[in-house]
Amino acid sequence: PKTAYVRTKPHLNIGTMGHVDHGKTTLTAAITKVLAERGTGTFVPFDRIDKAPEEAARGITINIAHVEYETDTRHYAHVDMPGHADYIKNMVTGAAQLDGAILVVSAADGIMPQTAEHVLLARQVGVDHIVVALNKADAGDEELIELVELEVRDLLAQNGYDGDAVPVIPVSGLKALEGEPRWTASIEALLDAVDTYVPMPERYVDAPFLLPIENTLTITGRGTVVTGAVERGTVHVGDRVQVLGAEVESVVTGLETFGKPMDEAQAGDNVALLLRGVPRDAVRRGHVVAAPGSVEPARRFRAQVYVLSGREGGRTTPLTTGYRPQFYIRTADVVGDIDLGDAAVARPGDTVTMTVELGRDVPLESGLGFAIREGGRTVGAGTVMEVLG
Ligand code: GDP
Ligand code: MG
Repeated sequence: PKTAYVRTKPHLNIGTMGHVDHGKTTLTAAITKVLAERGTGTFVPFDRIDKAPEEAARGITINIAHVEYETDTRHYAHVDMPGHADYIKNMVTGAAQLDGAILVVSAADGIMPQTAEHVLLARQVGVDHIVVALNKADAGDEELIELVELEVRDLLAQNGYDGDAVPVIPVSGLKALEGEPRWTASIEALLDAVDTYVPMPERYVDAPFLLPIENTLTITGRGTVVTGAVERGTVHVGDRVQVLGAEVESVVTGLETFGKPMDEAQAGDNVALLLRGVPRDAVRRGHVVAAPGSVEPARRFRAQVYVLSGREGGRTTPLTTGYRPQFYIRTADVVGDIDLGDAAVARPGDTVTMTVELGRDVPLESGLGFAIREGGRTVGAGTVMEVLG
């Protein structure tokens, strides 16, 4: 029998951000190694994180690798995303709900374009606390490290963070993985900074239960399992739920987090729910599991949208009324028509108001973030202002 999950420590969701090749995945592996040695985690080697094999084998498009670990005071789920596009998609849509982030900056290279973009994105989606890992400190001299530190504090301040207060910790993920004591200590220092600088966020545990489905799988003989992060509320084994998108009702007959059974899952937890009597092909990524009757799906809404510039990987030509891109809302991917009203065009770099009509009903509410994508690139990042029906 599996050991049950015991909620002895507060749970937080964090993740690494930063420019490609600055060492996010190496650092993630190093954190799990250091904590495995402390006895509060399981070592996850680099290639297990970078390939996310179970997900690839199931042919699922989401590319987030989750690892879990504990420090002395907290339980963390940590996401490491492989590419820049994954950050835009998963952070804006809320698929990766980060309570805090570790910004990885190579001390040998300094700030690069994706460093700046991820800081901008983090600010936009409400990641209020960032801790900086000045990685590859083994490869940079003291003066260079100090220079990069100033540069990073400046970038954070420009984006509305407290540039002076943010902890900036020189680390070497690579040398810590190799077991060098000096650099193992640097990872300990980084984790202490995360423990103390990132506050416990407010959890909406009293709201009706809602979980956007990230993934589905079948357990032979037992039924269909859906996975995702609980956005709000709580759920227990035996609770009746509704799957919006599939239009089915079911009962939760099993509940797990990272392979451990639990009696109650709450807002912020990453969980798998076993649903009684639901055929696997009835549910999919993008559907939402909710307390019955607690949400009213809709397809029309008014939104404020930032149109990414060409430099940010967006379009070089304006958007016009009648444009029909894909909308990424929570974990869903839905086509939608845009109406710009009197403005008629929205240029790259502009922030505009638009009315959107989606191709199908999804649970919507004001304040919800979304990304607009076409042909594999993100062209806009928006927020729902008003649901129209
Ligand atoms: P990511 O794209 O940000 O996830 O970066 P990776 O973790 O894949 O690392 C990119 C490259 O930098 C790899 O060749 C790593 O071995 C190397 N690297 C990562 N961390 C360190 C470090 O602390 N010191 C040095 N010298 N190299 C590192
Ligand atoms: Mg990586």
